[in-house]
Order: sequence, then structure tokens, then C-alpha cells
Amino acid sequence: PPERAKWLDKLKAGLRKTGSSISTVFTGAQIDEALYEDLEAALLMADTGVQATQYLLGEVKRRVKEGGVTHPVAVKNILTEVLTQLLRPLEKPLVIGEHKPTVIMVAGVNGAGKTTSIGKLTKHLSSAGASVLLAAADTFRAAAREQLGVWADRNTVEIISQDGGDPAAVSFDAVSAGKARGRDVVLVDTAGRLPTQLHLMQELSKIKRVVQKADATAPHEVLLVIDGNTGQNALTQVKAFDDALQLTGLIVTKLDGTAKGGVLAAIAQERPVPVYFIGVGEQLGDLETFNAREFAQALLA
Ligand code: GDP
Repeated sequence: PPERAKWLDKLKAGLRKTGSSISTVFTGAQIDEALYEDLEAALLMADTGVQATQYLLGEVKRRVKEGGVTHPVAVKNILTEVLTQLLRPLEKPLVIGEHKPTVIMVAGVNGAGKTTSIGKLTKHLSSAGASVLLAAADTFRAAAREQLGVWADRNTVEIISQDGGDPAAVSFDAVSAGKARGRDVVLVDTAGRLPTQLHLMQELSKIKRVVQKADATAPHEVLLVIDGNTGQNALTQVKAFDDALQLTGLIVTKLDGTAKGGVLAAIAQERPVPVYFIGVGEQLGDLETFNAREFAQALLA
């Protein structure tokens, strides 16, 4: 469909921004050590990370040898296949409907695109017929609450907030309200930055515990929003938030403007938290489900 082609083009254009795009590695006439060296450098430039890069190179070399492959273009096809297989475990849909409400806690450092992603996710869920309630649990920044309010208005959904309130209390109220009003989904927006990372993790853990008091099975999803532009930094965040909160999924933003999309390979290799969605723009509709093959093809285009 044309819609799908449009965002894939955005993704490709973004991923292609690096000076030495990965595809240029395969334009030579033969398969030699220089090709593998160029490939290694290009993968590292795309922020694939040392571990995933070594894995991909090893796997490609093995298959090239086994298959008796002699042309560089065939190496590219093999890499596409190996990368797709590496990324495949990250493919997982966000399932709504097993619990009512499904409580989704959303974390992410400031600037990652958390608020925008919550707005997009609200639209995605509303379009699928789910009723959504937003909880403004980032009570530290008045601006955060206002910004979330703008997205609530755009989606015409209700928002629960409190002036300078306690983040855990707001979350508790929102989950209770969601239950009482029969909402399908409660989306909890959390703070992105506190004085130290320790404070942030304690704060988020507290929200998680208190939400559980409002509904023993909640939160049903704990999502982390990461900026796809930040490469290896994003991987560090995934590890830290997963250690503290046991993440169930990721939203990877700004893939329309980055050459560092290889970080998803690093995540698949080192901390395979499912990627529920990718962000490919600033508009409400710029949220797409993650598809390993499409992503691999776009990265190597
Ligand atoms: P927060 O601090 O994590 O809540 O981040 P915001 O949601 O305020 O987003 C920070 C900036 O990133 C804003 O200018 C957004 O428009 C922009 N942004 C968010 N997601 C995307 C995306 O997928 N693509 C692009 N190009 N920009 C994005």
C-alpha cells in the first residue's frame, strides 16, 4: 500500500544519512578482506555495536564460504538475511484487551520523544477502537503536563493530572478511574529526568508498585521510549531501565532522521526487549509497527 511505502521511504532516507552507507560496501567487483573491513566500519558507524557487528560479520563470512558465493551483491543479500534473523525476536505486537483497562506505563529520558509517542500511541489505539485515558504522572515539569494535555485534546481523550501532585498518586487515581469508567487502556506518562538516575528509577519503581495496588495485575506493559538517533546511548538506557523496571517493550523514535538505526541490532544481540513501534516523524500518524525484514532492507538500502 502507498501509505506503507511512504514511511519506508522516510526510514530509508533517515538511515541513509551516514556518509558511508552500508550499501556502498558491496559495489566492488570481488569479495575480499577489504570488503569485510569496510563492512565492519560501516556497521560500527551505523551504531550496530561491537558485539552485534562481530556476530553479523562472522555469520556472513560463514554463509559466504558455505554457499560458494563470489559476487559482492550476494553478500549484501546474505547480510540482509542474517540481520533480519537477528532482529526478528524484536518483532512483537502490543496486545490490548486481555485486561480492562490495560495499564501501560511509559518511561524515557527527556527529549527521547516520550510525550509525542504517547500522543501517537493514543491515536493508534483510539483508531483501533480502544478507549484511552491518559495519566500525567510527570508532575515535576508543568510543561510536561501541558504538553500531554495538548495531545489529549488532539485525540479528544480524558487526562488525569494534579497540580504538583505525587506521581504515584496520579497514577493510582488514573488506574482507579480507568477501572471505574470501563476504559480499555490507561497510558501513564512518567518523568524523564530527576536529579540522579537513582532517583528516577526509584520514582518509576514506586509508580509501578502503587499502580499494582490499584490493580493487582497492572502495569501490564512497561514501555521505554528511546531516541534512535542516540545510538549506543540508547542501548545503555534500555539496559538501565530494564534492570530497574523489567521492560515489556520499546518505542524507538526519530528513525526518519538517523544513520544510527543499527542500534536495533545491538539491542537484539545484547538486550532483546521487543520493539512495539518505531517513530518516523513528528505527526500523529508517524508511528509504525516494527518489521524486522523491512527494517533490515531499509538499513542496507
Ligand atoms: P519527551 O521529552 O521525551 O517527551 O520528548 P518530546 O515528545 O517532547 O519530543 C522531543 C522532540 O522530538 C520534539 O521536537 C518531537 O517533535 C520530536 N520527535 C519525537 N518523535 C519523533 C520522531 O519519530 N521523528 C522525528 N523526526 N521527531 C520526533
